[in-house]
Amino acid sequence: MASNRKRLCVLGSTGSIGETTLAVVRDYADRFQVVGLSAHAAADALAVQAREFGVEHVCLTGNGNGGELEALRPLRGEAGLVELIDRCEPDMVVVATVGAAGLPPTLRAIERRIPIALANKEVLVTAGDLVMRRARRLDVPILPIDSEHNAIFQCLGGVSDARRLPLRRIILTASGGPFRGRSRAELSGVTREEALNHPTWNMGRKITIDSATLMNKGFEVIEVHHLFGVETARIEVIIHPQSVIHSLIEYHDGSMLAQMGVTNMYLPIANVLAYPERLENARFAPLDLAAVATLTFEAPDLHAFPCLRYAYEAVEAGQTYPTVLNAANEIAVRRFLEGEIAYLGIPALIDAALQAHRPQPADELEAIAEADRWARAYCESRAPMEPTAERMP
Ligand code: MG
Repeated sequence: MASNRKRLCVLGSTGSIGETTLAVVRDYADRFQVVGLSAHAAADALAVQAREFGVEHVCLTGNGNGGELEALRPLRGEAGLVELIDRCEPDMVVVATVGAAGLPPTLRAIERRIPIALANKEVLVTAGDLVMRRARRLDVPILPIDSEHNAIFQCLGGVSDARRLPLRRIILTASGGPFRGRSRAELSGVTREEALNHPTWNMGRKITIDSATLMNKGFEVIEVHHLFGVETARIEVIIHPQSVIHSLIEYHDGSMLAQMGVTNMYLPIANVLAYPERLENARFAPLDLAAVATLTFEAPDLHAFPCLRYAYEAVEAGQTYPTVLNAANEIAVRRFLEGEIAYLGIPALIDAALQAHRPQPADELEAIAEADRWARAYCESRAPMEPTAERMP
């Protein structure tokens, strides 16, 4: 039977964004159809999803037994993600993987001129110049799922290239994470459990730590720079603990536009999946502004949260520095989660990697992959450092 439903390939479908994407599909089954799914290690959960949505094409990127998934003869490994796109012929690829694994399938989708709903930050952080150059050349839309970028996309009226607009600033809001208001000294002894306890957003572990260090916001600055073609000098970050305003833009005439809504990723995901249409929201009560009552804002503390500063420095230095920023952070966060380094060891390790790096032009995948490998090896092999060794602003 012919169907007008939008065919979705969801990469990283068992993660937080992937599951929410499938919740949108479940709610609007007349509009969306899932034709491909991938997970890293959650083979059983992937099998359950494949059965529920009647999906034939699946990929398991991690090692390990596929369990009942084996009946579907899953594609394997990160290379399998590229093959998955070729096999399932989607109308849109939702890239909700974690880490650098999202890059090859994103490039494949661009090559095949398939619109992309992008949630994986590392794709633009690590290879933004390359990805956007190819996407713009082939006119492939990259629609942002991340709440801040989706907010900016909405404020811009669906324009994804802001280079010709009379924009003065783009202002990214940040909740400030669990350690907002703490001084650097007060951060020295914080535990993994404290860092994993995010006040407003419920997310995966890596991004929750990235939110605590503000590296997540640093990555978002880099993403804004690439997605909308705006230089970092015009991208600002403001701490807004209520997370009601998801980001703002300001035109040259002083007018500011903000996008607001409840803090649930369902909304930006539904916005992107349905774009340019808007779905009728049947799931959430309208945001009650009288109940919110107060919106507050404060400048970020770059001394207590140097990761945000490193992100600006890395993207301004260009070349392979953002790749190193991303890879070093990934290893530092893993080492923190496994108890190998202290919380302040995360920025210390990233800074050490950025200082030691010998940059290369980042216009080919090979140079990016090499910088990524170098940074991972460097950060894996380094003994935990005294955070006091770190540069001061
Ligand atoms: Mg965000």
